[in-house]
Amino acid sequence: MSVFSKNAIQILEERYLLKDKKGRLIETPQALLRRVAKFVSSNEEKKSFHKAQFYELLSSLKFLPNSPTLMNAGCKNGQLSACFVLPIEDSLDSIFTTLKNAALIHQSGGGTGFNFSKLRPKDDLVTSTSGTSSGPLAFMTIYDAATEQVKQGGKRRGANMGILNIDHPDIMDFIQSKSSKKAIENFNISIGITDAFMNAVIHNLNWQLVNPRTKKVKKTVSAKAIWELIIKEAWSSGDPGLIFLDTINSSNPTPKAGTISCTNPCGEVPLLDYESCNLGSINLSKILKSHDGVYKVDWETLAKTIHLSVRFLDNIITVNHYLIPQIKSITMANRKMGLGVMGWAELLILLETPYASEEAIQLAEKLMSFIKKESYKASEQLSIERDIFTNWKDSLHYPRQKLRNATCNSIAPTGTISVIANTSYSIEPLFALAYNRVGILGGKTQTEVNALFLQKMKALNLWSDVIEREVINTGSIQHLTSIPKSIKAIFQTSLDIPWEYHLKHQKAFQNYTDNAVSKTINLPETATIEEVSDIYMSAWNLKLKGITIYRYGSKDHQILQKCSLN
Ligand code: UDP
Repeated sequence: MSVFSKNAIQILEERYLLKDKKGRLIETPQALLRRVAKFVSSNEEKKSFHKAQFYELLSSLKFLPNSPTLMNAGCKNGQLSACFVLPIEDSLDSIFTTLKNAALIHQSGGGTGFNFSKLRPKDDLVTSTSGTSSGPLAFMTIYDAATEQVKQGGKRRGANMGILNIDHPDIMDFIQSKSSKKAIENFNISIGITDAFMNAVIHNLNWQLVNPRTKKVKKTVSAKAIWELIIKEAWSSGDPGLIFLDTINSSNPTPKAGTISCTNPCGEVPLLDYESCNLGSINLSKILKSHDGVYKVDWETLAKTIHLSVRFLDNIITVNHYLIPQIKSITMANRKMGLGVMGWAELLILLETPYASEEAIQLAEKLMSFIKKESYKASEQLSIERDIFTNWKDSLHYPRQKLRNATCNSIAPTGTISVIANTSYSIEPLFALAYNRVGILGGKTQTEVNALFLQKMKALNLWSDVIEREVINTGSIQHLTSIPKSIKAIFQTSLDIPWEYHLKHQKAFQNYTDNAVSKTINLPETATIEEVSDIYMSAWNLKLKGITIYRYGSKDHQILQKCSLN
């Protein structure tokens, strides 16, 4: 029997398995895994030994790499990374060179992040034409239109991160740039926040907006007024998120190679200009052992999985096809990777630990500190076997620890690979106990009841037509009086969980993640503007690297929608 679920096979057939010129499948899911294992072991001395090890790692669904690796390994387009940051200087040459490079990255399945803050503001002077400038927003709109047309080779949506720093003169327009329903849909936007700005908000001070071309103050505004606009917009549309630039740079492992001003589209990897990173995630629901129906974390299997996954991801850096020389140069010099997790909610359910509990937070810390420690050990061993990364002497790791990789860990959203692995997304709680999944590129809508929930309810003799209808209708069981409290606690969904616990999970994982954590603080429709302000402020106080919220129903199109019977 196939290890893959029906959903997984559908996604694989639609977008991952190789096809001939007529669009007919020429690969099975198992053949895809063999192709990936073979290519990723091609730099090894003992090729067939490692190929077998990698095949076992993938086919057991204990670990999957990011989508571009599954799609492109061993193919003509051998671009294997999901994450890129490209620079935009204040010149037409730079703006359109980077746009071209971004199109090539999108075509290969990668996502791109840009910080637009070096661009002179709208209506500033353009000496060459004696005219006036269009400003960062106008160029972001052009990037968005280009992304729309490339659509990552028809396989997935082009993803971009657009950042503008909080002292840019066009900041007010940027904050509101996503409020019109059809605006810049292929971008997540974030504000590049500094500690100085946050202190100005707290102390109700004025804030200076500075023209990046002249370095002169263009305008002085109240910090609080900017903050309130950010919060209002985030409450009404989910955008903008925040990126905390000082926190990010305080743990930039290679400050001599440059300052970090941007992240990849979903925020889990802060990167230098032209840097790329490949991700992979351990499926925590497969790292459990059971005895008499009681589950425990299998630390030995976890350690083995981490070591093999680090080797896998390091190999990718070697065998990868780099689209342009600048990307190759900085990526090979730092050899960053992002090993993370998926299936965290499912693991908690199997352990019968409520997501919204201190026990879950303690386990998150224990688990991620273990993953970090073992990842670093694996990278250290590779540095002995292979070599240390080129920028090591100029890094924060010097001279304490010899490493093969400047960073090892990221928590990615695992938007597709968790579906392929048939587990819950990343470190997110279950979104709903039943939902309609809208096809990623406009396919059919499917109704699904969570399998673990169904199994538990049936085992306890609690499943009935009435309950099924309620769950399909609302996605939750919290309002049902016939269900015991302990079961309700284990099956709290994303919207049932207080935001404080969403943040605590993000913080617990961030504490042991050298890159960053991609997490959405999902809020019910009834969440208030004040709550959004508290969340954003707490995120900065907790020293998170970024923050994203989403209030239910505030966007037209959601990939996951709570079920409703029409
Ligand atoms: N990404 C992208 N397009 C997409 C989804 C993701 O370019 O449609 C990139 C983006 O950089 C994101 C990263 O892949 O931050 C990881 O996303 P995710 O974990 O959801 O990807 P998966 O490997 O599951 O497809």
